[in-house]
Amino acid sequence: MMIRLFVIVFALLGLPVAALADAPPAPHLELDIDLDPAIRQLTATAVLTVHSDTLELALAPGLSMTRLHVDGRPRVLPTAIDGRVDLKLGGPGPHHIQLNYGGQLAPLPDLDHRGVLARLPPMADVRGSYLPAGSGWYPDPGVPFSYRVHLRLPADQKGLVPGRLVQESEGESYRAEFDFPHPIEGIDLMAGPYVIAERLVQRPGQRMLRIRTYFYADMADLAEGYLADSARYLARYSEAIGPYPFDAFSIVASPLPTGFGMPSLTYLGRDVLRLPFIRATSLGHEVLHNWWGNGVWPDWESGNWSEGLTTFMADYAYQEDQSAEMAQAARLGWLRDLAAVPEAEDSPLAAFTARHHGLSSIVGYNKSAMLFLMLRDAIGEPAFGQGLRLFWQRHRFQHAGWADLQRAFADASGRDLHAFFRQWVERAGAPQLRVAEAGWSDGTLRIAIAQRGTPYALRVPLRLVTPNRQEIRWAEVEGVLTRVVLPAPERVLAVELDPEYRLWRRAESATFPPILREVFVAPHAGLLLADADPELQTAATALAESLLDSRPERLRADGASALPGKSPLLLIGLTASVDRVLARLGLPPRPAHLAGTGSAQVWTVRDQAGRPYAMVSARDVTSLQALQRGLPHYGKQSWLMFEAARVLDKGIWPARVERVELDTNAASQP
Ligand SMILES: [Zn+2]
Repeated sequence: MMIRLFVIVFALLGLPVAALADAPPAPHLELDIDLDPAIRQLTATAVLTVHSDTLELALAPGLSMTRLHVDGRPRVLPTAIDGRVDLKLGGPGPHHIQLNYGGQLAPLPDLDHRGVLARLPPMADVRGSYLPAGSGWYPDPGVPFSYRVHLRLPADQKGLVPGRLVQESEGESYRAEFDFPHPIEGIDLMAGPYVIAERLVQRPGQRMLRIRTYFYADMADLAEGYLADSARYLARYSEAIGPYPFDAFSIVASPLPTGFGMPSLTYLGRDVLRLPFIRATSLGHEVLHNWWGNGVWPDWESGNWSEGLTTFMADYAYQEDQSAEMAQAARLGWLRDLAAVPEAEDSPLAAFTARHHGLSSIVGYNKSAMLFLMLRDAIGEPAFGQGLRLFWQRHRFQHAGWADLQRAFADASGRDLHAFFRQWVERAGAPQLRVAEAGWSDGTLRIAIAQRGTPYALRVPLRLVTPNRQEIRWAEVEGVLTRVVLPAPERVLAVELDPEYRLWRRAESATFPPILREVFVAPHAGLLLADADPELQTAATALAESLLDSRPERLRADGASALPGKSPLLLIGLTASVDRVLARLGLPPRPAHLAGTGSAQVWTVRDQAGRPYAMVSARDVTSLQALQRGLPHYGKQSWLMFEAARVLDKGIWPARVERVELDTNAASQP
């Protein structure tokens, strides 16, 4: 599925590596680049200023050096060993190394390629050229450096590198000059037959901010929306954290299915840019990486905090913007993901050092995002916001780790956050807790909360349900069994533990409301066709194939009462037939709000054993066929209502929270 691929190929490039605090001044690179994508020809002059005695140079295959000067004097071109050249410079410098080089770049890979786009060579094509950082298209000093790039392209092409646009001209050729004054690990260059759209934003006390789209002509209508949303995100995070640290932000269309974020720009596949959720979520996520990731650099050794903080302040924050329900659904989704990870495969956040988004790190992202939520819950919104701004001011264009975050939030809140960060960053796993005992008498609620395994120190939200209202109270919990006494003047009928999922914890997956994805992605799923009609069977089978990842085991409608194992089950049929099969299986009938409206209804249930079922019920064959394209994309829903291919309504069933009913006849003994 597109979304999953997108997550896999999303990567952060151009991030600096560790530099010593007392290191010599960062190298500076001046590049003069002439690129002709039609013949894939690169001709370049580089002037590299370094403060070191030696320099190792390596150019990409296809590129070769033609002239070399060190400190103004010509040098005989050294012989490369394994593509590398060691230069003796004589003394600590500064030295100026001028290199003329060029050659032919690689062609674009097969455009249908959908794999992980890692370690790409510099590539050129009239449809789009991409010369990635660290791929040997410029002499790399091996430590972070600042740069200035003069770029020349054929007149029908436009191109850019991260940084401020210093000047630009069109004529017989396109020329542009870019300046990047902060040390950076590498330079990404992008070019293509782009149409540029631009919006300039005045910033008090700062240079003008230039927001641009580099889009293909056939997608120019998307530009205005992207410019407006980028401006909105840039303003939002400048306000929340500190001024945007660059003078430009560009959204660049790629001929490849990329999803890269670099300082001051994002490079997204042309098809990706057309997806409706990109502007609403991924764009803001990439904008925010200019602060977290490309503004403050993660200290990779001690764990990558930048994805979690970015997820919390972008993806999750946009759910909070919409409604409390949406935010709760997002948190529930995190815990659902965690529940699906075997305990043995869980690892601490400190071990999450990946630079790339990937399925294996999803839990790392979620746990990290939940850490920031729990932290904000604990120290309050003002101190949390102050901590973020402190962290930004202290570590802008430097490496920083979890310990630096801890210090910033501790200083902002005046709290000792050692134990909090230690248990959430360094410990693998997650708390497992339950209400072991509960009783109310004479205006006092007494409960005992039990933890499995080595206990955590937690602030646990509890919902007290009384005859007239419901109220959230927080309890400090730290032992294997913690007794909590809470004043509660009104008789408490029930207590719910973390009913809004604000705590990173491991819960039984059977307690989560069933969603379609549980059936869609199951390694083994059963398929039950409710109708015998051949035309219906053909349509239902085709639909099942588009919904299920696995090849389903086909079950006979009349033998359905003897379903094997615990495999999820997909039931497809006409309205009356589906209702009949449900009754025969002893499953709950069609939910009332899904009766009689729309041409098709889809919903999930979970039986007593925890097995999820997905039902697809349609008015006729045409209504069934209409679901084929859309329905596979709604795996996160519990139910949907369709009119032909259009979704009329959708939702997630309410969660079954951990609820303990209190004995109301007598005060029970805790
Ligand atoms: Zn990210």
